[in-house]
Amino acid sequence: MGDITVLGLGLMGTALAESLQKSGHKICVWNRSEDKMTPLINEGATSAASVQEAVLSSPMVLVCVSNYDATVQLLRSDTVLASLGGRTVIQFSTGTPQEALESEIWMNDNGAAYLDGAILASPKDITSSAGKILIGGKEAAWIESEPILGCLGDSIIYTGDNIRAPAILDLAWLTQRLGHYLGLFHGVMLCEAGGVDLEHFSSIIADTRMRQVLEAIGEDDYQNPSVTVNVYLNVLKNIQKYAVEAGVDLEMLDNLRAIMEQACTEGYGDEDIAALAKTFRSTKLH
Ligand code: NAP
Repeated sequence: MGDITVLGLGLMGTALAESLQKSGHKICVWNRSEDKMTPLINEGATSAASVQEAVLSSPMVLVCVSNYDATVQLLRSDTVLASLGGRTVIQFSTGTPQEALESEIWMNDNGAAYLDGAILASPKDITSSAGKILIGGKEAAWIESEPILGCLGDSIIYTGDNIRAPAILDLAWLTQRLGHYLGLFHGVMLCEAGGVDLEHFSSIIADTRMRQVLEAIGEDDYQNPSVTVNVYLNVLKNIQKYAVEAGVDLEMLDNLRAIMEQACTEGYGDEDIAALAKTFRSTKLH
């Protein structure tokens, strides 16, 4: 039996699994595309042949897939639901506050304790002080999980038993991030239109991540993503969905969503979000 199972080994799931493994925890992994399990298996992780086997392998199950629909596809089958009883599921896929609430209900109905998490960091910032991880849910489940999740960094914040709180805080944080990205791309367009080198723009930007984005644009290299356009498009849809529910006007983000959807149509969905510069260029007035 492992200490914790990790379902989903994309960029973020892999970073979480690596941190858990490096801290000495016995991990079991499962990913839809099997090849992503190999590096962790080579470092000593066990792998499961099915989601049900993965769930049965540990008392704690961490889920980090693209969104809650994917989590539902993975866990809400009759066989897997029957295996959830007595386990604690920690959801790190990004979703809406309503999805967090609904997940807590169906997990609890099937005998699982449930914590909902939000990661305010890029994969390379997991365990560093640059990233924050928020976790909400019943205190008993948090107390039980903390000894293992604590290895993900000093910056884990338990936000209390309001299961919606991490998702709300995440959406608030991401909204300011997206505003920042939108401004950065507009700044790039202004510099390029005026023949000003992006290195000069970078030298007056304090935020490390924004400087990385400028570097990628300068090198025209988007193939080693920290976060993809697809992931941020999903995030943006969640923000807009919650804003409608909450009656908050976020019209500013409509323009960015149109650019992101165009970027996906142009084939940049799996590239770093810096690739949006290519789409912004194609929307220039002349
Ligand atoms: P990613 O690299 O695109 O990986 C997506 C993962 O989800 C892969 O393991 C993929 O499996 C799996 N998946 C998607 N749909 C599935 C389905 N229907 N059934 C089974 N597996 C499915 O994304 P990521 O960057 O790891 O992000 C994962 C979550 O973390 C997202 O909710 C994201 O918003 C959140 N997050 C990411 C970041 C970041 O900077 N990357 C930061 C904070 C939060 P395959 O490998 O088989 O495709």
